[in-house]
Amino acid sequence: MKSSANLPSPVQAIEHPLFTKHKLTVYVKRDDLIHPVVSGNKWRKLYYNLQHAKSLGYRGTLSFGGGYSNHLHALAYACQQQQIHAIGMVRGEQHYETNTTLTQAKQWGMTLDFIDRKTYKLRHDETYLADLKARYPDHFIIPEGGSNSLALKGVSELCDELNSQVEFDTIITPVGSAGTISGIIAGDKQQHNILGIAVLKQAEYLHEHIQSLLQSHHCNAQNWQLFTNFHGGGYAKFCAEDLSKMCEFSQLTQLPLEPIYSGKMILALLTLIEQGFFPAGHRIVILHTGGLQGLHGLIEQKKIKADEWLLPPAT
Ligand SMILES: *Cc1c(COP(=O)(O)O)cnc(C)c1O
Repeated sequence: MKSSANLPSPVQAIEHPLFTKHKLTVYVKRDDLIHPVVSGNKWRKLYYNLQHAKSLGYRGTLSFGGGYSNHLHALAYACQQQQIHAIGMVRGEQHYETNTTLTQAKQWGMTLDFIDRKTYKLRHDETYLADLKARYPDHFIIPEGGSNSLALKGVSELCDELNSQVEFDTIITPVGSAGTISGIIAGDKQQHNILGIAVLKQAEYLHEHIQSLLQSHHCNAQNWQLFTNFHGGGYAKFCAEDLSKMCEFSQLTQLPLEPIYSGKMILALLTLIEQGFFPAGHRIVILHTGGLQGLHGLIEQKKIKADEWLLPPAT
């Protein structure tokens, strides 16, 4: 897996009038460029999970996600590369099967199992997981988003890369299932400020979840902060005004974004800067977690317009 990856991912400085006005230096860690398919944090989170599954002799992996899941998409491809099977437990109805994300996942050999929303809610439930394990004893179960202790190990390596690439004060990342921010906290060794922007509503529970992921990694660092008020209406929800702000930023900086994760993080960053959150001279690293494949699904659903976004090449 490592031989086909673009590591360390590049760090680029970006310019924006607001950064200049507040005397801030801003860099982007381009994890979206790690791999054309398995992009960003999903590559880092899956790396040790697949190594672990293979070394213990599992025939495949099983994991969970929504109908447009970046995680299932990445898992399908990575498992094909590693020559192990993958099962995707998909939240919702069979009709998702024909969208771009899941069509590709199937082409890469993933078996899809559609489960209703009520069952999907059980994805962390011990009894439900034990049943699944009994049903698929030769498949290693990876939680939704890939966020487990093995993911922290993979993500923490980005801190070593960054330390040799650039000097900075704060790193900012979007937060979904929290494996990424937890991996950064674990890898940072209390050197920088770490800011997370939750992209879903009512995400206060993530504070505890991050603590427990960190404990599994024997880490009790406190140098992080999770913002739960920048979800913009909820997961994968956004208003026209927010979309146009994201596109404007993309055009200005030539940084490709998508509106579910990186777009929301950028809007949060701009708001924090306007509020004077960062002192003059501060150096910020934006983590680009990838996920640009999701743009295709949003276009299919007519939630965004194809000509307004910097689209990745079709795979
Ligand atoms: C999955 C994902 C995230 C969220 O990462 P977590 O580790 O689940 O918090 C952020 N950005 C992108 C592009 C993603 O696909």
